[in-house]
Amino acid sequence: MEWKRTRLHSIVTFTCPYCHEGAFFVSHPYDLKHAGDLHKECSVCHRRYSIEPGFYYGAMYVAYALAVAWSVSIYVAMAVLLPNASLLMQFGTITIGLVLVGPCLYALSKIIWANLFFGYRGVERTKEELTVAPKGR
Ligand SMILES: [Zn+2]
Repeated sequence: MEWKRTRLHSIVTFTCPYCHEGAFFVSHPYDLKHAGDLHKECSVCHRRYSIEPGFYYGAMYVAYALAVAWSVSIYVAMAVLLPNASLLMQFGTITIGLVLVGPCLYALSKIIWANLFFGYRGVERTKEELTVAPKGR
């Protein structure tokens, strides 16, 4: 399969889950004023990024999984590299690690959630999209 058509490409490059070309987010994850804000529709294929109100609430589950995975990774890294670290130091390091990557995990959770439901369709509308009522456009 062509790399550009994979969901991983859309996730890694933060691009439209349908055409993998248009920007998904308004800004980069560390622009805290617009963290997690996404465009209403793709600037290239003009498909909408949300299929219903509150669609991205489900991204919380993805964010939780990512945060647990990140925390466990830090814990294991500390257990290997600093086996004599105190519990307070482990807790502090995990907390600081989560705060530092928090905006990135938030953005990742939204793009992963979108890619769970939307697949690659290319820039042009498919025959199915043109004949069926504009469900998700
Ligand atoms: Zn698009």
